[in-house]
Amino acid sequence: MLKVVNPTTGQQIAEVPITPPQAVPEAVRRARAAFQHWKKLSVAQRARYLYAARDWIVDHQDEIIETICAETGKPRTEALVAEVFYCCDLLGFYAKNSERYLRDEIRSPHLLKTKRVFVIYQPLGVVGVISPWNYPFTLAMGDVVPALIAGNAVILKPSEYTPLTGLLVERIFREVGLTENVLQTLCGYGDTGAALVDHCDGIAFTGSVATGKKVAERAAQRLIPVLLELGGKDPMIVLKDADIERAANACVWGALTNTGQTCMSVERVYVEAPIYDEFVKRVVEKVKELRTGVEIGPLTTPRQLEIVERHVRDAVEKGAQILIGGKRREGLFFEPTVLVNVDHSMQIMREETFGPVIPIMRVNSIEEALQLANDSIYGLSASVFTKDKRLGMQLARHIESGNVCVNDCITNFAILEAPYGGVKQSGLGRRHGEWGLRQFTWPQTVVVDRFGLKREVFWYPYSEKVTRWIARGIRWLYRRGLRERFSHPHSRPLT
Ligand code: NAD
Repeated sequence: MLKVVNPTTGQQIAEVPITPPQAVPEAVRRARAAFQHWKKLSVAQRARYLYAARDWIVDHQDEIIETICAETGKPRTEALVAEVFYCCDLLGFYAKNSERYLRDEIRSPHLLKTKRVFVIYQPLGVVGVISPWNYPFTLAMGDVVPALIAGNAVILKPSEYTPLTGLLVERIFREVGLTENVLQTLCGYGDTGAALVDHCDGIAFTGSVATGKKVAERAAQRLIPVLLELGGKDPMIVLKDADIERAANACVWGALTNTGQTCMSVERVYVEAPIYDEFVKRVVEKVKELRTGVEIGPLTTPRQLEIVERHVRDAVEKGAQILIGGKRREGLFFEPTVLVNVDHSMQIMREETFGPVIPIMRVNSIEEALQLANDSIYGLSASVFTKDKRLGMQLARHIESGNVCVNDCITNFAILEAPYGGVKQSGLGRRHGEWGLRQFTWPQTVVVDRFGLKREVFWYPYSEKVTRWIARGIRWLYRRGLRERFSHPHSRPLT
């Protein structure tokens, strides 16, 4: 049995049966049987379940929020905005757009004009979704929904810390009439997740870099596709012409929302020297005003609390100064903390902290800020604050990060039309838009011959005449004169 503990009170609130790894093959077999029926429905038919699930969520908001808050300790407003609101929007988005994203495409060949070409998006089969505890509803639904509407059967393995929300996801779809076993939730530890990798046809994993690498290695044994949404150490750059008030507000919210347990939270801040003092002053003032239980909750797991304490201790030992916070309180609470005099020798600037800590560093130029921002193994999100939006855009191009916000932070996750995901060790693959949907399919190319000749010129038997004819064709098609007249300027010969 999994014991579910409320991180705010420390009380056990439920016990949930574990599905051991040995039971996973049977669950996958059931899913495979359900897949046979589900894949035959049209996208429009599948979309109806998504709309119905959205209605269910709207009607059961309070119950969902209570479940999420009880398991994670997060403030109600955050469960409402970042989980319930997001999931409603996601369901509607994919219900509305999937037909367009998954429609068969006709490609017209530039060369073989005697062929018609179609690209068909086929579902993978049984998709395993392995999700973390920090946004248990959003990050489970975030993959379950596109995987389902693409025609897959899905098995969700929620985090061992948040199984109740995982079971709720299954219940929503059951209560709106989804055929049995098209979506199953299996609760358990890492070994249950690993067994999914051994038996499913594709995996969507959200979690830490360390586990993501294990999942990728295991998936490589079977060469199944894996989506990896991993950790981050997201930089915020504040240039000297920035709107200091907006930047300070963004910094405090971006670093501390969900008590800093957000993969794309602001984890380190670089501020140009002329506004550094004023920026730090405002950030500290704003942190002082935060209320426990309203804006700030506990860490969700004891392990997370240990990491935060270790990073702060390491920073202080190496010369960092605490301007506010810095200590654990009762239970799993840690005071929202602002650190200065930090540098890249400290864990707090290099490793994912995933807690309520804002380390701020003074920089003397844009180049220095950029160099420090890119000095990381991660590349999930970043933000730049400047009144010169063109400069912000320019800087964004040079930041090695899957997502960059200019004068904003985290908001990109709510823009479902745009791809979301990481570079470097922050992951592989993309959520949202057509990218988030098509990764749960394999594109199948179907070529249809148009004219039905008895044979193609390059089929057997080969002959001298045809060989000469093809060689002449190559000269005619690709000879320099033609290329210069009709082709792209970049293909002209170098002089
Ligand atoms: P985790 O890696 O410890 O666990 C994630 C999931 O993997 C859990 O369900 C766990 O049971 C399962 N698991 C553990 N070992 C496994 C194995 N060997 N094989 C298969 N599954 C296994 O991560 P966590 O602590 O739950 O989540 C926090 C991490 O997730 C942070 O690093 C955070 O940055 C990251 N995250 C990333 C994103 C993103 O979109 N990039 C979003 C949220 C969280």
